[in-house]
Amino acid sequence: MLRREFNLSLFVREMFRKYYLSHHEFYIPKKLEEREFGFVFFDNGTMHRHISFKNIDELVRYIRKIIPSHVFYSSAYYEYPNADSMNQKGWLGADLIFDIDVDHIPTLCKKYHDSWKCLNCGKEGTGSIDICPFCGSERIKKKTWVCNKCIETAKDETLKLIDFLSEDFGFSHKELEIFFSGHRGFHIHIDKKDVLEMDQDARREIADYIRGVGIDTDFFLKRVQKDLYEYIWSLDSKGWHKRLIRGMYSFLLKMSRDDLMLAGLNSERINILIDKLSVHGPDALNEVVLTLNEWKILFHNAIKEEQCIIDEKVTIDIKRLIRLPDSLHGKTGLRVIKLSYKELENEDVLKKSIVFNDGYIRLYVKRIPEKVLDWKFENVRNKVIDVPMYLGIYLLQNGGDDISLIKIL
Ligand SMILES: [Zn+2]
Ligand SMILES: [Zn+2]
Repeated sequence: MLRREFNLSLFVREMFRKYYLSHHEFYIPKKLEEREFGFVFFDNGTMHRHISFKNIDELVRYIRKIIPSHVFYSSAYYEYPNADSMNQKGWLGADLIFDIDVDHIPTLCKKYHDSWKCLNCGKEGTGSIDICPFCGSERIKKKTWVCNKCIETAKDETLKLIDFLSEDFGFSHKELEIFFSGHRGFHIHIDKKDVLEMDQDARREIADYIRGVGIDTDFFLKRVQKDLYEYIWSLDSKGWHKRLIRGMYSFLLKMSRDDLMLAGLNSERINILIDKLSVHGPDALNEVVLTLNEWKILFHNAIKEEQCIIDEKVTIDIKRLIRLPDSLHGKTGLRVIKLSYKELENEDVLKKSIVFNDGYIRLYVKRIPEKVLDWKFENVRNKVIDVPMYLGIYLLQNGGDDISLIKIL
C-alpha cells in the first residue's frame, strides 16, 4: 500500500511541476512583501509557514523549486511577515475575506457522491449528515466529493453574497476580487483602505449581518392593536427591510394553508393573508396584521430564504492563510482562479479551472461515487475505467483505497 501512495504522490507532483514550469502569469497579491506564505509539501503533508518573499519572481522561483501541493498566503499584512511567532510579526491590517463552501450548504447532489460512517454504531449511508440517525452520535467519518452541481450551488450563493456586499454595503463590483478555490467554493477578497484595519468584532458584525443572525423584530414592526402588529417596510426599502418582505413572500408562495397552520399561524388570518397575496403580491404583507409570534415565524423562514451561507470563521479571522490564486489545489489538481463578475455569472467555472486537459489515465476502482466533477458513473464496482487526466488526478487524490492507478495512457 505504501508503495502505491509513494508512486501516486510522485506522479501528481510531476504533473504539478509541469504546470508550475509552464504557467507564466501568476496572480500577484497586493503588497506581496508584507504577506506571510505557507506551503504544504507532497512528501509529508505538513504546513511550512512564516515564509516571506520580496517579490513575485522570488515566490515563483520558490514554488518551481519545491513544487508544493498547496500554496497559501496571509490575508494580513505584517511588518515582519517571516517572524516565527504571530506576536512578533507586527500586524498592519488584513483584507476582508468571505468564504463560501458547499460543504456548509445542503445540496441534493450530495446523496450521489457523499457518504458517511458512524464511528459509534458502525452504520453507513449516503449523503451528508452531522448526527447519526441510528444512534445519535456525532462521531461521523465523512467522505465527500465535489460535482459540477456543487460548484453551481456555491456560485449561486456567491452571487447572493455579492448582492449583499454591493446593495447593502456599497462596494462596487470592481472592488471585489472573486476566486474559485479549486475545490468546492469561492472566496471574495476586499482590500479597500476602509476595511483593512477592522478588528474581529467589526468583521463579525458584517458576517452576522450577511448570515441574518440576530435580526431584531422590533425594527420591522409597528403595533396597531393590543396584540397585533403590521410590517412597515416594502420592496423599495433597503437592507434586511427589503430582504425580509421578499423572503416572506417567497416562503409563503411555497406553503399551503395547512402548512401555515401547522407552522403556528391562526387560520382566519392565514385566509386573509393568502387571499390578499394572490391579488397584491408581496405588498399584501403590508396590508395584514399578525401577532408578534406569527411575524416571528414568517421572519424565521424569510431569513432562511434570504441569508447567505458564508463560513464566518474565515471572515472573522484577521490572520488567516488563504489559497494563492493560480496555484493548484493539492486535493483536486484544479487551479485556483480569479474571476470577473461576468465570468462568475456566465462561464463554466470548473472548465476554466481545469489544468490537466491532455491525456487519459487508466484506473482500477473498487467503488466510485455516481457523480464526480462533470462526470457520471453508473454502477461502477470493481472495474477498470479510462478517464481524462484531470478527473483521474482528483479520483486518485481523494479515493483512498477504493481507487488505484493502473497506467497513464
Ligand atoms: Zn451511529
Ligand atoms: Zn455535488
